[in-house]
Amino acid sequence: MRKWIVRIVLGVAAVMMVGAVSSYLFIDRELTRMYGGLTEVADPALSKEGMDSYAIFHVNVLAPEGDRFLPDQIVTIRDGEIRSVGNSTTIPRGIPSLVGRDMYLVPGFTDSHVHLWESENDLLLYVANGVTQVRDMNSLPVNLRWRDEIEGSRIGPDIFAVAPQFATFGPMEGAFVGWVQHKTIVRTAEQVDKAVQDYVAKGYDALKASSYLDREGYIALSAAAAKHDIPLVGHLPVATGLEDLWASHQSEVAHVEEFVKALDREFGGYGADTAEDFLTFVRERSEDVADQMIAHDISVTSTLELIDSFQRQKSDLQTELGAAKLVYENPGIAEGTVITSRGMGWLPDVNIYRWPDQWDDDRKARSRLYWQTYAEAQHILFEAFMARGVAIMTGTDANVPVRVPGFSLHEEMAALQAAGMSPAQILASATSVPGDFMGTSTGQVRPGQKANLVLLRENPLEDIGATDAIEMVIIGGSVFNRKDLDQMLDTVKAANDASRTVPIPVAEGG
Ligand SMILES: [Zn+2]
Repeated sequence: MRKWIVRIVLGVAAVMMVGAVSSYLFIDRELTRMYGGLTEVADPALSKEGMDSYAIFHVNVLAPEGDRFLPDQIVTIRDGEIRSVGNSTTIPRGIPSLVGRDMYLVPGFTDSHVHLWESENDLLLYVANGVTQVRDMNSLPVNLRWRDEIEGSRIGPDIFAVAPQFATFGPMEGAFVGWVQHKTIVRTAEQVDKAVQDYVAKGYDALKASSYLDREGYIALSAAAAKHDIPLVGHLPVATGLEDLWASHQSEVAHVEEFVKALDREFGGYGADTAEDFLTFVRERSEDVADQMIAHDISVTSTLELIDSFQRQKSDLQTELGAAKLVYENPGIAEGTVITSRGMGWLPDVNIYRWPDQWDDDRKARSRLYWQTYAEAQHILFEAFMARGVAIMTGTDANVPVRVPGFSLHEEMAALQAAGMSPAQILASATSVPGDFMGTSTGQVRPGQKANLVLLRENPLEDIGATDAIEMVIIGGSVFNRKDLDQMLDTVKAANDASRTVPIPVAEGG
Protein backbone atom coordinates (compact mmCIF):
# COMPACT_ATOMS: atom_id res chain seq x y z
CA MET A 1 0.00 0.00 0.00
CA ARG A 2 2.75 2.48 1.03
CA LYS A 3 4.62 1.58 -2.13
CA TRP A 4 1.60 2.49 -4.31
CA ILE A 5 1.10 5.84 -2.59
CA VAL A 6 4.74 6.72 -3.19
CA ARG A 7 4.41 5.69 -6.83
CA ILE A 8 1.28 7.80 -7.33
CA VAL A 9 2.82 10.86 -5.65
CA LEU A 10 5.99 10.53 -7.74
CA GLY A 11 3.92 10.03 -10.88
CA VAL A 12 1.83 13.18 -10.26
CA ALA A 13 4.99 15.18 -9.48
CA ALA A 14 6.61 14.00 -12.72
CA VAL A 15 3.55 14.96 -14.78
CA MET A 16 3.51 18.41 -13.15
CA MET A 17 7.22 18.89 -13.83
CA VAL A 18 6.83 17.96 -17.48
CA GLY A 19 3.82 20.29 -17.69
CA ALA A 20 5.72 23.20 -16.17
CA VAL A 21 8.76 22.70 -18.37
CA SER A 22 6.74 22.34 -21.54
CA SER A 23 4.61 25.42 -20.75
CA TYR A 24 7.80 27.35 -20.07
CA LEU A 25 9.25 26.21 -23.40
CA PHE A 26 6.00 26.96 -25.22
CA ILE A 27 5.75 30.49 -23.78
CA ASP A 28 9.43 31.17 -24.38
CA ARG A 29 9.08 30.16 -28.02
CA GLU A 30 5.96 32.30 -28.42
CA LEU A 31 7.90 35.26 -26.99
CA THR A 32 10.78 34.65 -29.39
CA ARG A 33 8.25 34.65 -32.24
CA MET A 34 6.60 37.85 -30.96
CA TYR A 35 9.97 39.59 -30.78
CA GLY A 36 10.65 38.59 -34.38
CA GLY A 37 13.23 35.90 -33.63
CA LEU A 38 11.54 33.08 -35.57
CA THR A 39 11.20 35.01 -38.83
CA GLU A 40 13.39 33.76 -41.65
CA VAL A 41 16.61 35.75 -41.89
CA ALA A 42 17.04 37.59 -45.19
CA ASP A 43 20.26 37.14 -47.11
CA PRO A 44 20.77 39.84 -49.76
CA ALA A 45 24.15 38.30 -50.71
CA LEU A 46 25.97 41.62 -50.29
CA SER A 47 29.25 42.40 -48.60
CA LYS A 48 30.84 45.40 -46.90
CA GLU A 49 34.10 44.58 -48.64
CA GLY A 50 35.07 47.08 -51.32
CA MET A 51 37.14 50.16 -51.89
CA ASP A 52 39.29 51.25 -48.94
CA SER A 53 39.92 54.60 -50.49
CA TYR A 54 37.78 56.56 -52.97
CA ALA A 55 36.34 59.93 -53.84
CA ILE A 56 32.86 61.22 -54.62
CA PHE A 57 33.05 64.26 -56.87
CA HIS A 58 30.88 66.91 -58.54
CA VAL A 59 28.45 66.50 -55.66
CA ASN A 60 26.45 68.99 -53.59
CA VAL A 61 27.47 68.55 -49.96
CA LEU A 62 25.41 69.59 -46.95
CA ALA A 63 27.43 72.31 -45.17
CA PRO A 64 28.44 71.48 -41.56
CA GLU A 65 25.98 74.17 -40.40
CA GLY A 66 23.28 72.16 -42.16
CA ASP A 67 21.54 75.16 -43.72
CA ARG A 68 22.81 74.99 -47.33
CA PHE A 69 24.53 72.80 -49.89
CA LEU A 70 28.08 73.52 -51.02
CA PRO A 71 28.01 73.00 -54.81
CA ASP A 72 30.40 70.87 -56.87
CA GLN A 73 32.43 69.34 -54.03
CA ILE A 74 34.79 66.41 -53.85
CA VAL A 75 34.69 64.19 -50.77
CA THR A 76 37.47 61.68 -50.14
CA ILE A 77 36.96 58.64 -47.93
CA ARG A 78 39.61 56.30 -46.55
CA ASP A 79 39.34 53.43 -44.08
CA GLY A 80 35.74 54.27 -43.28
CA GLU A 81 36.37 57.93 -42.51
CA ILE A 82 35.79 61.20 -44.33
CA ARG A 83 39.29 62.59 -45.07
CA SER A 84 38.58 65.75 -47.02
CA VAL A 85 35.80 67.89 -48.43
CA GLY A 86 36.67 70.53 -51.02
CA ASN A 87 36.00 72.01 -54.44
CA SER A 88 35.95 69.54 -57.33
CA THR A 89 38.73 71.50 -59.07
CA THR A 90 41.35 69.40 -57.26
CA ILE A 91 40.39 65.85 -58.20
CA PRO A 92 42.92 63.42 -56.69
CA ARG A 93 44.49 60.93 -59.05
CA GLY A 94 44.93 57.22 -58.53
CA ILE A 95 41.85 56.45 -56.47
CA PRO A 96 38.45 55.20 -57.64
CA SER A 97 35.79 57.84 -57.89
CA LEU A 98 32.02 58.05 -57.90
CA VAL A 99 30.21 60.88 -59.65
CA GLY A 100 27.54 62.66 -57.67
CA ARG A 101 26.55 65.26 -60.26
CA ASP A 102 23.17 66.90 -59.50
CA MET A 103 22.96 64.87 -56.31
CA TYR A 104 22.96 65.81 -52.64
CA LEU A 105 25.27 64.23 -50.09
CA VAL A 106 23.99 64.31 -46.50
CA PRO A 107 25.04 62.57 -43.27
CA GLY A 108 23.41 59.18 -42.67
CA PHE A 109 20.19 59.46 -40.68
CA THR A 110 19.69 58.47 -37.04
CA ASP A 111 16.44 57.11 -35.67
CA SER A 112 16.77 58.01 -31.98
CA HIS A 113 14.02 55.71 -30.74
CA VAL A 114 13.75 52.17 -32.10
CA HIS A 115 13.13 48.67 -30.80
CA LEU A 116 15.21 46.05 -32.56
CA TRP A 117 14.13 43.17 -30.30
CA GLU A 118 15.11 39.95 -32.10
CA SER A 119 14.18 41.24 -35.55
CA GLU A 120 17.42 40.76 -37.43
CA ASN A 121 16.06 41.82 -40.82
CA ASP A 122 15.42 45.30 -39.43
CA LEU A 123 19.14 45.96 -39.81
CA LEU A 124 18.72 45.79 -43.59
CA LEU A 125 15.56 47.93 -43.53
CA TYR A 126 17.46 50.68 -41.75
CA VAL A 127 20.35 50.64 -44.19
CA ALA A 128 18.02 50.56 -47.22
CA ASN A 129 16.31 53.67 -45.83
CA GLY A 130 19.51 55.61 -45.23
CA VAL A 131 19.34 55.10 -41.46
CA THR A 132 22.98 54.51 -40.57
CA GLN A 133 22.54 54.78 -36.80
CA VAL A 134 19.82 53.79 -34.34
CA ARG A 135 19.32 54.29 -30.65
CA ASP A 136 17.85 50.98 -29.53
CA MET A 137 15.74 51.81 -26.51
CA ASN A 138 15.60 48.37 -24.84
CA SER A 139 18.59 46.35 -26.00
CA LEU A 140 18.96 42.63 -25.38
CA PRO A 141 22.24 40.68 -25.37
CA VAL A 142 21.61 39.71 -29.01
CA ASN A 143 21.52 43.41 -29.94
CA LEU A 144 24.90 43.96 -28.28
CA ARG A 145 26.23 41.09 -30.38
CA TRP A 146 24.85 42.67 -33.57
CA ARG A 147 26.36 46.01 -32.55
CA ASP A 148 29.79 44.41 -32.29
CA GLU A 149 29.37 42.41 -35.52
CA ILE A 150 28.32 45.58 -37.38
CA GLU A 151 31.68 47.09 -36.43
CA GLY A 152 33.06 44.15 -38.43
CA SER A 153 31.53 42.52 -41.49
CA ARG A 154 27.79 42.51 -40.70
CA ILE A 155 25.63 44.98 -42.67
CA GLY A 156 23.58 47.21 -40.41
CA PRO A 157 23.34 50.61 -38.76
CA ASP A 158 25.55 51.63 -35.84
CA ILE A 159 23.68 50.69 -32.69
CA PHE A 160 23.58 52.82 -29.55
CA ALA A 161 22.36 50.21 -27.06
CA VAL A 162 20.19 51.33 -24.16
CA ALA A 163 19.96 48.67 -21.42
CA PRO A 164 16.60 47.01 -20.62
CA GLN A 165 14.42 49.65 -18.99
CA PHE A 166 14.20 49.83 -15.20
CA ALA A 167 10.83 49.09 -13.59
CA THR A 168 9.46 48.32 -10.14
CA PHE A 169 7.10 45.38 -9.62
CA GLY A 170 6.41 42.97 -6.77
CA PRO A 171 8.29 39.64 -6.76
CA MET A 172 5.72 37.49 -8.65
CA GLU A 173 4.62 40.06 -11.24
CA GLY A 174 8.21 41.27 -11.52
CA ALA A 175 9.46 37.83 -12.45
CA PHE A 176 6.83 37.61 -15.21
CA VAL A 177 7.30 41.17 -16.53
CA GLY A 178 11.08 40.82 -16.47
CA TRP A 179 10.85 37.66 -18.53
CA VAL A 180 8.08 38.59 -20.95
CA GLN A 181 8.85 42.29 -21.48
CA HIS A 182 12.63 42.25 -21.01
CA LYS A 183 12.60 44.88 -18.29
CA THR A 184 15.06 45.33 -15.43
CA ILE A 185 13.04 44.74 -12.25
CA VAL A 186 14.29 46.58 -9.17
CA ARG A 187 12.80 47.14 -5.72
CA THR A 188 15.69 48.68 -3.75
CA ALA A 189 18.44 51.24 -4.35
CA GLU A 190 21.01 48.44 -3.87
CA GLN A 191 19.41 46.41 -6.68
CA VAL A 192 19.48 49.48 -8.93
CA ASP A 193 23.18 50.09 -8.30
CA LYS A 194 24.07 46.44 -8.83
CA ALA A 195 22.13 46.28 -12.13
CA VAL A 196 23.76 49.50 -13.35
CA GLN A 197 27.23 48.16 -12.56
CA ASP A 198 26.38 44.99 -14.46
CA TYR A 199 25.14 46.93 -17.55
CA VAL A 200 28.19 49.18 -17.56
CA ALA A 201 30.44 46.09 -17.41
CA LYS A 202 28.51 44.50 -20.32
CA GLY A 203 29.04 47.57 -22.49
CA TYR A 204 25.58 49.11 -22.73
CA ASP A 205 25.63 52.75 -23.85
CA ALA A 206 22.86 54.18 -21.64
CA LEU A 207 20.25 53.37 -19.00
CA LYS A 208 16.50 53.82 -19.37
CA ALA A 209 13.81 54.70 -16.87
CA SER A 210 10.45 53.08 -17.65
CA SER A 211 7.02 54.45 -16.76
CA TYR A 212 6.78 51.80 -14.04
CA LEU A 213 9.81 52.68 -11.94
CA ASP A 214 8.87 53.89 -8.45
CA ARG A 215 10.09 57.31 -7.30
CA GLU A 216 12.74 55.93 -4.97
CA GLY A 217 14.00 53.70 -7.79
CA TYR A 218 14.11 56.68 -10.17
CA ILE A 219 16.18 58.74 -7.74
CA ALA A 220 18.49 55.74 -7.19
CA LEU A 221 18.82 55.18 -10.95
CA SER A 222 19.70 58.83 -11.51
CA ALA A 223 22.36 58.64 -8.78
CA ALA A 224 23.79 55.38 -10.15
CA ALA A 225 23.93 56.83 -13.68
CA ALA A 226 25.97 59.78 -12.41
CA LYS A 227 28.19 57.57 -10.24
CA HIS A 228 28.99 55.19 -13.10
CA ASP A 229 29.14 57.97 -15.70
CA ILE A 230 26.55 56.56 -18.10
CA PRO A 231 23.66 58.55 -19.61
CA LEU A 232 20.14 58.16 -18.24
CA VAL A 233 17.39 58.39 -20.88
CA GLY A 234 13.80 57.33 -21.40
CA HIS A 235 10.47 57.91 -19.74
CA LEU A 236 9.47 60.03 -16.79
CA PRO A 237 8.00 57.43 -14.41
CA VAL A 238 4.31 57.76 -13.56
CA ALA A 239 5.25 57.96 -9.87
CA THR A 240 7.35 61.10 -10.45
CA GLY A 241 6.71 64.70 -11.44
CA LEU A 242 8.60 67.24 -13.53
CA GLU A 243 10.37 68.49 -10.37
CA ASP A 244 11.96 65.04 -10.11
CA LEU A 245 13.12 65.25 -13.72
CA TRP A 246 14.67 68.69 -13.20
CA ALA A 247 16.46 67.38 -10.09
CA SER A 248 17.76 64.26 -11.88
CA HIS A 249 20.75 63.43 -14.10
CA GLN A 250 18.44 62.34 -16.92
CA SER A 251 19.70 63.88 -20.17
CA GLU A 252 17.00 62.78 -22.61
CA VAL A 253 13.26 62.17 -22.60
CA ALA A 254 12.21 59.52 -25.10
CA HIS A 255 8.94 61.10 -26.28
CA VAL A 256 7.43 64.60 -26.34
CA GLU A 257 4.42 62.60 -25.11
CA GLU A 258 6.08 62.14 -21.70
CA PHE A 259 5.40 65.82 -20.99
CA VAL A 260 1.73 65.40 -21.92
CA LYS A 261 1.54 62.63 -19.32
CA ALA A 262 3.44 64.66 -16.70
CA LEU A 263 1.19 67.70 -17.22
CA ASP A 264 -1.88 65.45 -17.11
CA ARG A 265 -0.75 64.31 -13.64
CA GLU A 266 -0.28 67.94 -12.57
CA PHE A 267 -3.73 68.74 -13.95
CA GLY A 268 -5.27 65.86 -12.02
CA GLY A 269 -6.23 63.70 -15.00
CA TYR A 270 -8.25 65.17 -17.87
CA GLY A 271 -11.21 63.55 -19.58
CA ALA A 272 -13.48 64.28 -22.52
CA ASP A 273 -15.37 66.81 -20.38
CA THR A 274 -12.22 68.74 -19.38
CA ALA A 275 -10.31 68.48 -22.67
CA GLU A 276 -10.37 72.23 -23.38
CA ASP A 277 -9.32 73.12 -19.84
CA PHE A 278 -6.44 70.69 -20.10
CA LEU A 279 -5.21 72.22 -23.36
CA THR A 280 -5.34 75.68 -21.75
CA PHE A 281 -3.31 74.32 -18.85
CA VAL A 282 -0.75 72.77 -21.24
CA ARG A 283 -0.44 76.12 -23.09
CA GLU A 284 0.17 77.91 -19.80
CA ARG A 285 2.80 75.42 -18.63
CA SER A 286 4.56 74.71 -21.93
CA GLU A 287 6.96 77.67 -21.95
CA ASP A 288 8.20 76.99 -18.43
CA VAL A 289 8.68 73.30 -19.29
CA ALA A 290 10.71 74.30 -22.36
CA ASP A 291 12.80 76.76 -20.32
CA GLN A 292 13.57 74.05 -17.76
CA MET A 293 14.62 71.68 -20.55
CA ILE A 294 17.12 74.29 -21.71
CA ALA A 295 18.28 75.09 -18.16
CA HIS A 296 18.90 71.41 -17.38
CA ASP A 297 20.29 70.58 -20.83
CA ILE A 298 17.76 67.83 -21.51
CA SER A 299 17.05 66.63 -25.05
CA VAL A 300 13.76 65.22 -26.26
CA THR A 301 12.98 62.64 -28.91
CA SER A 302 10.02 63.41 -31.16
CA THR A 303 7.90 60.28 -31.89
CA LEU A 304 5.15 62.67 -33.08
CA GLU A 305 3.74 60.36 -35.72
CA LEU A 306 3.26 57.47 -33.30
CA ILE A 307 1.19 59.58 -30.91
CA ASP A 308 -0.75 61.22 -33.77
CA SER A 309 -1.57 57.72 -35.03
CA PHE A 310 -3.16 56.52 -31.75
CA GLN A 311 -6.54 58.02 -32.53
CA ARG A 312 -6.42 56.86 -36.17
CA GLN A 313 -5.48 53.31 -35.16
CA LYS A 314 -8.38 53.26 -32.71
CA SER A 315 -11.00 54.53 -35.12
CA ASP A 316 -9.79 53.33 -38.53
CA LEU A 317 -7.17 50.63 -38.16
CA GLN A 318 -7.68 49.18 -41.65
CA THR A 319 -6.73 52.47 -43.33
CA GLU A 320 -3.75 52.88 -41.00
CA LEU A 321 -2.49 49.36 -41.69
CA GLY A 322 -3.13 49.75 -45.41
CA ALA A 323 -0.98 52.89 -45.51
CA ALA A 324 1.93 51.28 -43.61
CA LYS A 325 4.64 49.38 -45.50
CA LEU A 326 3.44 46.19 -43.80
CA VAL A 327 5.20 43.85 -46.22
CA TYR A 328 8.49 44.87 -44.60
CA GLU A 329 7.36 44.60 -40.97
CA ASN A 330 8.49 41.48 -39.14
CA PRO A 331 5.39 39.21 -39.21
CA GLY A 332 6.17 37.87 -35.72
CA ILE A 333 5.87 41.38 -34.30
CA ALA A 334 2.83 42.32 -36.42
CA GLU A 335 1.00 39.11 -35.51
CA GLY A 336 1.73 39.35 -31.76
CA THR A 337 0.97 36.40 -29.48
CA VAL A 338 -1.78 35.15 -27.20
CA ILE A 339 0.64 35.22 -24.23
CA THR A 340 0.90 39.00 -24.01
CA SER A 341 0.01 41.73 -26.40
CA ARG A 342 1.27 44.63 -24.34
CA GLY A 343 3.51 46.84 -26.41
CA MET A 344 3.23 44.60 -29.47
CA GLY A 345 0.58 43.36 -31.89
CA TRP A 346 -0.35 45.32 -35.03
CA LEU A 347 -2.97 43.34 -36.94
CA PRO A 348 -6.72 43.79 -36.28
CA ASP A 349 -7.10 40.81 -33.90
CA VAL A 350 -4.15 41.80 -31.73
CA ASN A 351 -3.74 45.56 -32.24
CA ILE A 352 -2.98 47.12 -28.88
CA TYR A 353 -4.66 50.45 -29.65
CA ARG A 354 -7.94 49.56 -31.34
CA TRP A 355 -11.26 50.09 -29.60
CA PRO A 356 -12.97 47.01 -28.17
CA ASP A 357 -15.80 45.92 -30.50
CA GLN A 358 -18.44 46.22 -27.79
CA TRP A 359 -17.91 49.98 -27.34
CA ASP A 360 -20.93 52.06 -28.35
CA ASP A 361 -20.80 55.27 -30.40
CA ASP A 362 -20.88 57.52 -27.36
CA ARG A 363 -17.93 55.74 -25.78
CA LYS A 364 -16.03 55.95 -29.06
CA ALA A 365 -16.77 59.67 -29.45
CA ARG A 366 -15.42 60.36 -25.96
CA SER A 367 -12.33 58.29 -26.66
CA ARG A 368 -11.77 60.09 -29.96
CA LEU A 369 -11.92 63.46 -28.22
CA TYR A 370 -9.56 62.21 -25.50
CA TRP A 371 -6.90 61.07 -27.95
CA GLN A 372 -7.26 64.07 -30.24
CA THR A 373 -6.67 66.23 -27.19
CA TYR A 374 -3.68 64.10 -26.26
CA ALA A 375 -2.12 64.61 -29.71
CA GLU A 376 -2.92 68.33 -29.63
CA ALA A 377 -1.22 68.69 -26.25
CA GLN A 378 1.84 67.00 -27.72
CA HIS A 379 1.92 69.57 -30.54
CA ILE A 380 1.58 72.50 -28.12
CA LEU A 381 4.60 71.21 -26.20
CA PHE A 382 6.52 70.46 -29.38
CA GLU A 383 5.99 74.02 -30.62
CA ALA A 384 7.20 75.44 -27.30
CA PHE A 385 10.31 73.22 -27.48
CA MET A 386 10.99 74.36 -31.04
CA ALA A 387 10.49 78.03 -30.16
CA ARG A 388 12.88 77.82 -27.20
CA GLY A 389 15.51 75.81 -29.09
CA VAL A 390 15.33 72.59 -27.06
CA ALA A 391 17.50 69.86 -28.62
CA ILE A 392 15.03 67.65 -30.52
CA MET A 393 16.00 64.26 -31.96
CA THR A 394 13.98 62.48 -34.62
CA GLY A 395 12.67 59.19 -33.31
CA THR A 396 9.87 56.85 -34.34
CA ASP A 397 9.47 54.02 -31.78
CA ALA A 398 9.93 51.62 -34.70
CA ASN A 399 8.25 48.22 -34.24
CA VAL A 400 5.51 49.74 -32.11
CA PRO A 401 2.32 49.67 -34.26
CA VAL A 402 2.39 50.88 -37.02
CA ARG A 403 5.91 52.23 -37.32
CA VAL A 404 7.90 50.09 -39.77
CA PRO A 405 11.68 50.19 -39.16
CA GLY A 406 13.52 52.50 -41.56
CA PHE A 407 10.46 53.72 -43.47
CA SER A 408 9.01 55.28 -40.34
CA LEU A 409 11.93 57.71 -40.07
CA HIS A 410 10.88 59.36 -43.33
CA GLU A 411 7.27 59.49 -42.11
CA GLU A 412 8.47 61.10 -38.88
CA MET A 413 10.46 63.70 -40.82
CA ALA A 414 7.30 64.54 -42.82
CA ALA A 415 5.41 64.86 -39.52
CA LEU A 416 8.08 67.23 -38.20
CA GLN A 417 7.73 69.35 -41.33
CA ALA A 418 3.95 69.43 -40.89
CA ALA A 419 4.50 70.42 -37.24
CA GLY A 420 6.44 73.51 -38.32
CA MET A 421 10.10 72.49 -38.40
CA SER A 422 12.18 73.70 -41.34
CA PRO A 423 13.90 71.08 -43.50
CA ALA A 424 17.30 72.23 -42.14
CA GLN A 425 16.08 71.76 -38.55
CA ILE A 426 14.68 68.32 -39.39
CA LEU A 427 17.92 67.21 -41.04
CA ALA A 428 19.83 68.38 -37.95
CA SER A 429 17.45 66.51 -35.63
CA ALA A 430 18.11 63.31 -37.59
CA THR A 431 21.90 63.81 -37.97
CA SER A 432 24.03 66.30 -36.02
CA VAL A 433 21.83 66.62 -32.91
CA PRO A 434 21.80 62.84 -32.17
CA GLY A 435 25.48 62.67 -33.18
CA ASP A 436 26.28 65.26 -30.49
CA PHE A 437 24.06 63.50 -27.97
CA MET A 438 25.68 60.10 -28.46
CA GLY A 439 29.17 61.50 -28.73
CA THR A 440 29.73 59.58 -31.95
CA SER A 441 31.71 61.16 -34.79
CA THR A 442 28.65 61.23 -37.01
CA GLY A 443 26.05 63.70 -38.20
CA GLN A 444 28.10 66.04 -40.39
CA VAL A 445 29.89 65.74 -43.71
CA ARG A 446 33.35 66.93 -42.68
CA PRO A 447 36.86 65.50 -42.31
CA GLY A 448 37.34 63.26 -39.28
CA GLN A 449 33.75 62.03 -39.21
CA LYS A 450 32.77 58.43 -39.82
CA ALA A 451 31.78 57.89 -43.47
CA ASN A 452 28.06 57.31 -42.79
CA LEU A 453 26.47 59.08 -45.73
CA VAL A 454 23.38 59.17 -47.92
CA LEU A 455 23.35 60.37 -51.53
CA LEU A 456 19.98 61.84 -52.53
CA ARG A 457 18.59 62.55 -55.99
CA GLU A 458 16.63 65.59 -54.78
CA ASN A 459 17.34 68.53 -52.48
CA PRO A 460 16.02 67.83 -48.95
CA LEU A 461 16.38 71.50 -47.95
CA GLU A 462 13.63 72.31 -50.45
CA ASP A 463 11.33 69.52 -49.29
CA ILE A 464 12.14 67.02 -46.58
CA GLY A 465 10.30 64.39 -48.66
CA ALA A 466 13.54 64.14 -50.67
CA THR A 467 15.15 62.11 -47.87
CA ASP A 468 13.76 58.90 -49.34
CA ALA A 469 14.95 59.65 -52.89
CA ILE A 470 18.01 57.57 -52.03
CA GLU A 471 20.62 56.80 -54.69
CA MET A 472 23.34 55.40 -52.44
CA VAL A 473 24.04 54.66 -48.77
CA ILE A 474 27.54 54.56 -47.31
CA ILE A 475 28.11 52.94 -43.92
CA GLY A 476 31.55 53.15 -42.36
CA GLY A 477 32.87 53.68 -45.89
CA SER A 478 31.07 50.65 -47.42
CA VAL A 479 29.07 51.65 -50.48
CA PHE A 480 25.60 50.32 -51.29
CA ASN A 481 24.01 51.56 -54.51
CA ARG A 482 20.31 51.66 -55.37
CA LYS A 483 20.38 48.12 -56.74
CA ASP A 484 21.94 46.83 -53.50
CA LEU A 485 19.35 48.67 -51.42
CA ASP A 486 16.49 47.22 -53.47
CA GLN A 487 18.05 43.80 -53.04
CA MET A 488 17.98 44.28 -49.27
CA LEU A 489 14.30 45.26 -49.35
CA ASP A 490 13.31 42.44 -51.70
CA THR A 491 14.99 39.76 -49.59
CA VAL A 492 13.39 41.07 -46.38
CA LYS A 493 9.97 41.05 -48.05
CA ALA A 494 10.50 37.47 -49.28
CA ALA A 495 11.66 36.32 -45.82
CA ASN A 496 8.59 37.93 -44.23
CA ASP A 497 6.23 36.35 -46.77
CA ALA A 498 7.75 32.95 -46.05
CA SER A 499 7.26 33.43 -42.29
CA ARG A 500 3.79 34.98 -42.25
CA THR A 501 0.94 33.01 -40.64
CA VAL A 502 -1.77 35.71 -40.82
CA PRO A 503 -2.48 37.58 -44.09
CA ILE A 504 -1.84 41.32 -44.00
CA PRO A 505 -4.43 43.90 -45.06
CA VAL A 506 -3.78 45.41 -48.46
CA ALA A 507 -4.15 49.13 -49.17
CA GLU A 508 -7.33 50.33 -50.88
CA GLY A 509 -6.86 49.80 -54.61
CA GLY A 510 -3.48 48.14 -53.98
ZN1 LIG B 1 9.83 52.77 -27.34
